[in-house]
Amino acid sequence: FEIVAAPIFNDSYDLKGAVLVFYEITELKRVEEMRKDFVANVSHELKTPLTSIRGFSETLLEDGALEDRELTERFLTIINNESQRLQALVKDLLELSRLEKDELQIRMERLDFRKMVDTIMPIIEQHAESKQIQVQLELPDSVIMRGDEDRLKQLVINLMNNAVNYTSSNGSVRLKVTHSNDSVFAEISDTGLGIPEDSLDRIFERFYRVDKARSRNTGGTGLGLAIVKHVVEAHGGTISVSSEVNKGTTFSIRLPKALG
Ligand code: ADP
Repeated sequence: FEIVAAPIFNDSYDLKGAVLVFYEITELKRVEEMRKDFVANVSHELKTPLTSIRGFSETLLEDGALEDRELTERFLTIINNESQRLQALVKDLLELSRLEKDELQIRMERLDFRKMVDTIMPIIEQHAESKQIQVQLELPDSVIMRGDEDRLKQLVINLMNNAVNYTSSNGSVRLKVTHSNDSVFAEISDTGLGIPEDSLDRIFERFYRVDKARSRNTGGTGLGLAIVKHVVEAHGGTISVSSEVNKGTTFSIRLPKALG
C-alpha cells in the first residue's frame, strides 16, 4: 500500500482529523516485477545459444581448424542446433506477443477437429517413434466446431510434443476427444515423469520449467504452455492439469463449439 495523508481543519483552524488515502500498489508492483523478470528471462534465453554460436564459429575460424573435417562437422552441428533453438524461441515469442496483444486476432472458422488432428499426426508420430513411445488416439469420426485452425493445431502439437518429451522410452501418450452439444473435450495424457504438486500452478507461466536442463535438451523454449493457455482462453475455453510424479500427466481442455 501507498498511504497519502492530509489534515482537516475547522473554521478556526483547529485540527479536526485527517484524511488517509490508501493506494493499492501491490498489483502494479507485481505486473512490473513480472515484466522485468520476462525481459531478464528473454535476454538469458537469447544469450546462451548466441554465446555458443559465437564461440564455436570463432574456433572454426582459427588457423588450421577447418582442415580437421571431423571437428568442423561437430562444431557446425552445434552451431546449426543452437540457431534452430534461437529460431524456435523467436517464433514462440512473436506468437505469444501477438496473442497477448490482441486475443481478437483469433479467426473463428468452421472446422472439423478430427480432420485437423489427422493432418498433424505425422509430426507427432515421427517424434514419438524416435523415442519408441506409443501414441493412442481416441476420436469421434467428426467433431465440428468454430475456431482458429492454425492455433488449435499448435495447441495439440505443443501438448502432444510435451507428453512425448517428458515420457521415457517405451511409455505411451494418448489423445482422447469427446464432445457434447456445445463443447469439445480434449484430454492429452502420458505415462511420463509427472509434475510435482508445487509446480502444477506455475507451468503455464512463461519460461517456468520443472527441470531446466531437460527442457533445453528436448529443444523446448519454455513458452509452449503459455501459448497453449492463451489459445484456450482466446477460444473462451478452459484448461486444467492433473499429475502424479513418475506416473504421468493429464491435460484436460474444454472448448466451446461456438456454433450457431
Ligand atoms: P518447455 O519448452 O520447457 O517444454 P512448456 O511451457 O511447454 O515449456 O512447459 C513448461 C514445463 O512444464 C516444462 O519445462 C516441464 O517441466 C513441464 N511439463 C510440461 N508438460 C509436461 C508433461 N506432459 N509431463 C511432465 N512435465 C511437463
